[in-house]
Amino acid sequence: MARVFVYEGREFPDPDINRTVEDIKTMMSDFFPELANAEVKQVERGDDTIFEFQKRVGTKGEKKPLPPSKWVNAPEGTECPYCGSKDVSVEPQGGRWYGCRECRKLWQKAG
Ligand SMILES: [Zn+2]
Repeated sequence: MARVFVYEGREFPDPDINRTVEDIKTMMSDFFPELANAEVKQVERGDDTIFEFQKRVGTKGEKKPLPPSKWVNAPEGTECPYCGSKDVSVEPQGGRWYGCRECRKLWQKAG
């Protein structure tokens, strides 16, 4: 009887059998910050118990960026803070997410 933790199709062995599932979720959220408010689905598999972490979708107050295909060119002079590329796109219609076409990182403009 073992506990197995699953996130995004990857299996993680039980890091500490004395910890609760909530504790382990908190530990794993050091590596996957989005797990902090994930849901846990419990499934039995043979002798093992699988705990699958699922990202909560549509959390209130959390605005997800639009798909980058809908983005427009960022104003001239906008630079990627990660790689310095000027090939930057921005969410249209007052969105605050920026994306770099070079290194594919996303960020939010402060202010
Ligand atoms: Zn970049």
